[in-house]
Parts: sequence; C-alpha cells; structure tokens
Amino acid sequence: TALSKVKDVDIKGGWKVGEPIPYAALTKTFSMIEATTKRLEKTAILTSFLLLVIQRSSKKDSTALLQAVYLCINRLSPDHIGIELGIGESLLIKAISESTGRSLAMIKADLKKEGDLGLVAMNSKNSQKTLFKPKPLTVAFVFSNLREIASSSGHSSQAKKVSIITKLLAACQDFEAKYIVRSLEGKLRIGNAERSVLVALAHAAVLAEHEKAGKRWSTEKLATKLEEGANNMKSVYSELPSYDEVIPALLKHGINGIREHCKLTPGVPLKPMLAKPTKAIGEVLDRFEGKRFTCEYKYDGERAQVHKLPDGSVSVFSRNSEDMSKKYPDLVEQLPKCIRESTKSFVLDAEAVAFDRSTNKLMPFQELSKRKRKDVKVEDIQVRVCLFAFDLLYLNGEPLLQKTLNERRELLRDHFTVVPGEFDFAKSSDGETVDEIQSFLEESVKDGCEGLMVKMLESDASYYEPSRRSVNWLKLKKDYLAGVGDSLDLVVVGGYHGKGKRTNVYGAFLLACYDDNSEEYQTICKIGTGFSEEMLQSHYDVLNPLERETMRGDVKPGGAKPDVWFEPQVVWEVLTADLSLSPIYTAAQGLIDERGISLRFPRFIRIRDDKGADDATGPEQISEMYERQALAAGSSKKKKGGD
Ligand code: ATP
Repeated sequence: TALSKVKDVDIKGGWKVGEPIPYAALTKTFSMIEATTKRLEKTAILTSFLLLVIQRSSKKDSTALLQAVYLCINRLSPDHIGIELGIGESLLIKAISESTGRSLAMIKADLKKEGDLGLVAMNSKNSQKTLFKPKPLTVAFVFSNLREIASSSGHSSQAKKVSIITKLLAACQDFEAKYIVRSLEGKLRIGNAERSVLVALAHAAVLAEHEKAGKRWSTEKLATKLEEGANNMKSVYSELPSYDEVIPALLKHGINGIREHCKLTPGVPLKPMLAKPTKAIGEVLDRFEGKRFTCEYKYDGERAQVHKLPDGSVSVFSRNSEDMSKKYPDLVEQLPKCIRESTKSFVLDAEAVAFDRSTNKLMPFQELSKRKRKDVKVEDIQVRVCLFAFDLLYLNGEPLLQKTLNERRELLRDHFTVVPGEFDFAKSSDGETVDEIQSFLEESVKDGCEGLMVKMLESDASYYEPSRRSVNWLKLKKDYLAGVGDSLDLVVVGGYHGKGKRTNVYGAFLLACYDDNSEEYQTICKIGTGFSEEMLQSHYDVLNPLERETMRGDVKPGGAKPDVWFEPQVVWEVLTADLSLSPIYTAAQGLIDERGISLRFPRFIRIRDDKGADDATGPEQISEMYERQALAAGSSKKKKGGD
C-alpha cells in the first residue's frame, strides 16, 4: 500500500506547530523526490511533507498549504489567472553573479559544464564564505517574492526582478538556491507530475484523518480510503481546476466533503475533453457499433470555452485555460444575442471559427492566427468569428458533466438561439452506416472543415470527461483517409544556422515531444524543408530571443547536435507521412524499442500558440502512432499477398 511507502521526511531545522513552513523543509523534500526514480516513492515523500503541513494548518487558514502546493507544481496561481514564471537565462546569470560575487564568465563556463543553472547557483552559493548565517527563508516569503517577480512588468521591471532574485539568493542555504533558480526558470525538474501532487495531497488528507482517529483503521480500510481519496481528489480537480478553491475546502470539509463543495463553477475553466484519432470509418464502427452516436463537423478554428457568470459577465477561455476575452471582443459582444432569457449562467464548449460574412463561408484557422492575442478592438477586426457550440457543461447553477451527450445537446439547443454568421450549433448527423458517415465527411470537407468528430450519445460513456483524451470521442480527419496520419504538436528546442542566402536566419530546427511523466523534452526530428524565406525570417524573430547558452537539462538530446538551443516554448504542428525507429532521436525511447522514434519527411503546418510546451504530443501518442502505422503496413502487405 501507499502507506508502507510513506516515510518520515527528515526535515532539516525542524519546524514547530504555529511556525511558518521553512523553505528548507520544502527543498529537502524536493531533493529527496529528485533522488528517487520510483513514482510511488516520490508520491510518498511528498505525502509525508504535505501531511505535516496539514497537521500544522487550522481549518480556517489554508494559506500555508496553498503556497506549499503551488511551489510543488511550480505555479503561482490557477492557470486561468496566468501569473507565470519563466525568467530568461541571462537575467538569472546576472542575479547569481551579483549575489555570489562570481563573474558572469565563470557562471557561464560552469553552466556549459553542468547544463543546470540551479546546480550552478547552488554550487556558487555553497563555495562562498559567509560571515553571518542569513535568516532562514520561509515558504511564504519565497512565494510572495516569486509572485512579485512574475507580476512585475514595464521597462524598469528587469532591474527590479534582478534585485529581488539577488536578495532571495543571498539568503539561500543548502539546496535552496538550486530550487529557487529552477522555479524561476519555470521547471523544477524533480520528476513530479502534477497528477502525483494531487494524489499526494489526497493521501496526506486521508492520513491526517487516520491519525486524528487514533490510527485505528485496519490496513485494508486505510488502503481503500487512500484509493478513494485519490480518485475523489482527481475527479474534483478535473471539474474545478483551481487549488484556490479546492484547498480551503479540503481543510474545512475534509477529503470526503470536497465533492459536495467543489463543483464546476463559471469563471474557472476546466481542461477540455480531447479525442482519439482514427484512421478509417471502419474503426469508428468497430468502436461504436450497436450504440447511438453522432457525427459532428470538425471545425477548423480555435477551441473556445465560453463562461457566463450569474452577474452577466462573459469570458472566453482557450484549450489551455488562458483568458481569450481580449482576443475575441467580438465574440463577447455577439454572444448575448444568442442566449435565451432563461439562460442565466452557463459553460459552453465550442469552436471559434473565422467566417466570411459576405459569402457566408467558413474560413481556415490561419485567418484567426493573424489576430493579436490581446487588446483587439472590435472596430479593427477584419475577419469576424462565428461560434459553433458543440457541448453545454453547466447551466443555471447546475453542472451537466454527468448527463448524457444527448441530454446536454437538448439543453444546449433549448437554451440558445442561432444567429446566422455569429452563433450556431455544430452541424451534426446521427448516422449509423459507413455510407452515411462517408457522405457526411465529404460534406464537411466541402464546407471547409477538417473532417468529423464522432461522439457517443448515450449511457455513461457519453458523459463529459474533462482533460481526458477519450475513446468516446473519435476524430476522423480527411488527411487520415489519405494515409497521412494525425499531426503532432512539437516543441522547437534547437536551431541550425542557415547556409548560403540563409545565413542570417535558422535554416533548420530540432523538434521534441514532451513526456509529462519524466518532465523531459525528447527529440524527434530535424525539420528544414518547405519554409519560405519569409517564414524563416519570422521564425528567427520569435526564436532568436529564446536562444540559450547551453541545452536545458530537461532536454534529452540523444545524438542530435543543433548549433543553438532554445528555451522550450514554441509549439509547431507538424505532419509526417512516416515514423521510424532511430538511434539518434530520443522520443518514446524504451516504449517500442531501445531506440527512439523519429519523423521522416516532417512538414510544418502551423504555429500552435494556443498550446504551451507542456501540451506538446507525448511519447505514448507517438508510440501509438508508430504501432498503428506498423499495423496498417502489415495489413496492406497481406492484401497484396505479401509476407
Ligand atoms: P489534440 O491534438 O491535443 O487532440 P488539437 O487541438 O490538436 O488537440 P484535434 O485533436 O485535431 O485538436 O481535435 C480536437 C479539436 O477539434 C478540439 O480541441 C476542438 O478545438 C476542435 N473541434 C472542432 N469541431 C469540434 C467538435 N464538433 N467537437 C469537438 N471538438 C471540435
């Protein structure tokens, strides 16, 4: 059981009830988590730490637990509020130099050797002779300073940031500098996925109750409670992904009370449900045969989760929980017209699509990507958007996630009205045969869509599953039928200098997928053909400021050796006709083979600025694609009578 793994975390410096949490206690926990590769053990160590925090917290004051949890996932606020870290390398090098008195050149040389600025900061600090022991840092102090750094903007903000970081570093002891610097860089790199933090938090809450009950539960009962607690926490968080709401409720009502007090709430976006790719209509029928399902147009726009609060305010969130209301002021303005009077509050799942009002035709996604991401003025908008709603997740005070899609769709149609060119329901057909699906697919492509989304309509299989890539939603794109396969979203981690006419830009790029279990970027291919001069220039303009002195420690390069490395931030959608095993690249290494998987003949499609580097395609999806391709090759050989 998880319990047997829970160890007493030996917390340096001790820490008594009523005292603030020493930052040293947290960084000691981090270093223990980093030292083991075993997932259960990582969770158990974090559980021990969070248990101590819970036991030292009162029901009414959740600040300490909240700050500790935020530092564990390296965030400073819920995603939709978007106070983010990610300080550039040169600023950090400057602060390390100022606080330790070492020259920039020495720090850069160490960084080249170590590949981890956190480690360099720690070693620089620890080799420094200090006369006075600084006052110990607390979690509260570090958290509020990180928040100040993240929220400062404007022209004098660089100097202010360096000064706060220098002050923090000056007070660091032991491991502290390593983790502060990594936090500032935006990645803790202790191999602790956010899911494990949720589990550890739930386990800690259960163990706190167990201790309160005099530790009288049997081992079996405790094991059941731990499992139930973790499931409960994961499901609550997927509906209300905000620790600002969940943690106060956890302390106040206990692990069993959170379900009742934490429900989907307009204003807090949930992570959208995602679909699995399918290669052929037959595959759809294999999955859905005998069940009721619907095919909807798969619009080529941007996912938009639209929230209306009871006070009348409307917000639009991206698939990444980013507030896009300032990108789509036209949507916010248009929306009231399509809302029936009885509709006071809601959460809609929809696609915002560029729409040509003179021809009444859908336009491709590229039109939307030309928009600025912020401060768009309605009067300046050339290409308007039409919202195509395909799901209703909340209505008038009630979450609908656990209603069938059929029921949700009826409520959607009853509570909203079509306004041509501004708001419509996703076009759908509840077909059942291959022929019906085929003709609807062709129609969708003719109308400017990417293909179809096929969704289960009835039973619990049609409930809305936040953040899951579910088999109950299948995507059928026209490209798949042409044998091209699904596209991948990959992070640009390196660049190669151009040759000849292209010496002032990068001529090719190194791409990587992201493994959220190990928190590392795994290289997958070099891409360099098919870019126009103009595109190369604009990629250069975006990527050049992200250049680093060295490769980041959380990139697994394999044999790839680009001329320059980048901060992993930019995500590109890429198509490939072929995946192959490769001794050079590291994507999905160990899943199919000792070798990694790489893309042959990759083709750039578009920039995905609605996705963060952490949302890039993962190694499991890549190995699934590889297996699918092998399967398809096998069956076509069979058809041709080959061996
Ligand atoms: P991922 O590759 O992570 O699944 P993606 O953003 O690249 O996500 P796809 O997988 O290609 O997109 O397809 C799912 C997306 O299709 C949704 O996120 C949504 O933006 C869009 N979409 C368009 N029409 C629909 C629809 N009727 N139902 C659901 N999603 C739709």
